[in-house]
Amino acid sequence: RLFGEGRRNSAGLDLWAAEELVPLGKAMAKAAESGWEAAPLVGGRALEGPKREVRNPANRKQLVGHVVDATPEQAQQALARAQRAWFDWNATPAEERARCLERYADLMEENCAELMALCTREAGKSVADGIAEVREAVDFCRYYALRARQDFAGPQALPGPTGERDEIQLEGRGVFLCISPWNFPLAIFTGQVVAALVAGNCVLAKPAEQTSLIAAAATRLLHRAGIPGDVLQLLPGDGAALGKTLLPDERVAGVAFTGSTATAKLINRTLAARDGAIVPLIAETGGQNAMIVDSTALPEQVVNDILISSFQSAGQRCSALRVLFVQDEVAERTLTMLEGAMQELRVGNPADLATDVGPVIDEEARDMLNGHAKRMNQEARLIARTALGPDCANGTFVAPAAFEIDSLSRLQGEVFGPILHVVRYKADRLDQVVEAINGTGFGLTFGLHTRIDSTVEYLRHRVRAGNHYVNRNMIGAVVGVQPFGGEGLSGTGPKAGGPRYLHRFATERVISIDT
Ligand code: GLU
Repeated sequence: RLFGEGRRNSAGLDLWAAEELVPLGKAMAKAAESGWEAAPLVGGRALEGPKREVRNPANRKQLVGHVVDATPEQAQQALARAQRAWFDWNATPAEERARCLERYADLMEENCAELMALCTREAGKSVADGIAEVREAVDFCRYYALRARQDFAGPQALPGPTGERDEIQLEGRGVFLCISPWNFPLAIFTGQVVAALVAGNCVLAKPAEQTSLIAAAATRLLHRAGIPGDVLQLLPGDGAALGKTLLPDERVAGVAFTGSTATAKLINRTLAARDGAIVPLIAETGGQNAMIVDSTALPEQVVNDILISSFQSAGQRCSALRVLFVQDEVAERTLTMLEGAMQELRVGNPADLATDVGPVIDEEARDMLNGHAKRMNQEARLIARTALGPDCANGTFVAPAAFEIDSLSRLQGEVFGPILHVVRYKADRLDQVVEAINGTGFGLTFGLHTRIDSTVEYLRHRVRAGNHYVNRNMIGAVVGVQPFGGEGLSGTGPKAGGPRYLHRFATERVISIDT
């Protein structure tokens, strides 16, 4: 049952069913009334300190809650506590640890309205993205619980000589530092943390500064589900300051990180510079993801998949489509249709069900993206730009745009937002396209629209990307179905939501007993 056969992913919600949506909408609004708080959770206790305000990316006038950031001293205290708690947690039967994950999954489902309200208000996620976020988090828990029961249940006998008992078992490594991003503030936070915990590690969770409230709500549920206060501690706060105190510390036995390639490299260098043990870094980073559309593709399907892949979640997914390669013969038709479809997108308040594209996360992201669009205006041909809705005035919105560029080399690194780049190619130059895609050094997702089977087979071995999507959109990997993660500059593996993920959080031990 490597991929969790017999296990079902969570059902989610039907966005067409008013009887489900109306009560959910009311519950989300109610949950938002009281405002949220986050603080360092050390030894199960919320610590006091100066509070900073959190504001809604869709409307900066709206206060969402307050966060107390952890100081480096508090991070050190948490580390000392985690280390003391580790032996007992690692010796706790995997079955018990797995049950905590399942209880946490149930609690997330029970509290889904509050979690979704947080996703919308703190992270600017649309309702559909909020539902997907809770579902993915729940699926990670149940999938990793199942994997832990299979692989961490106890020693497995090895075929040794007569008179000897040889066994192999998986053990936690110690204290794991889990550094999670704002773009999947519940799902990736949860995926990292529960994987580390169920594999027998204590966890210091350091969420992105922008989404500390969601992380605090999730951590409280994990504690309610039975994870002891010293085993999981939350450290909201400045990544550079906390990284500086924690990463060089030899008591940190491993790091799980999702974020930029540059930060992953910095973490890697810091870990490598330590005097002590060589420890694992599990990094999921960026992408310069491409899609190839050839002349045999179905145009309506192509356009729909481009819209989803480029603009859903305001393009703030590391899996999102950034560069579309379209075959010359069908380029004009495809781009005309794309232009029309982009005029139909609705940009606005993510809490509104009719919204397709919400805000980007903050002012810094907005300014960076608008700066890029301005550069593209000069260097490239504008294919289409979607108008901002009337409710965008007080938020950090970026107009979805598509530009035609002459070559991929125009782009310097990942553009993390709703901006698509298009390059035309000639049918006999497919190899050059592949070369350009591989030449970026990234290797996260790849999309292909063709009805020629031999092209699918040809590119399967040639495009260096962790997840290939053929004749469909290229985002939203499903736990246990599309284990997710990249190659090259895009990450270290193993794939999240895949059968080998937990193993990287663990170490193998062999016991040989003369009987
Ligand atoms: N797993 C997500 C997806 O498949 C992307 C994760 C990320 O953006 O970090 O769309």
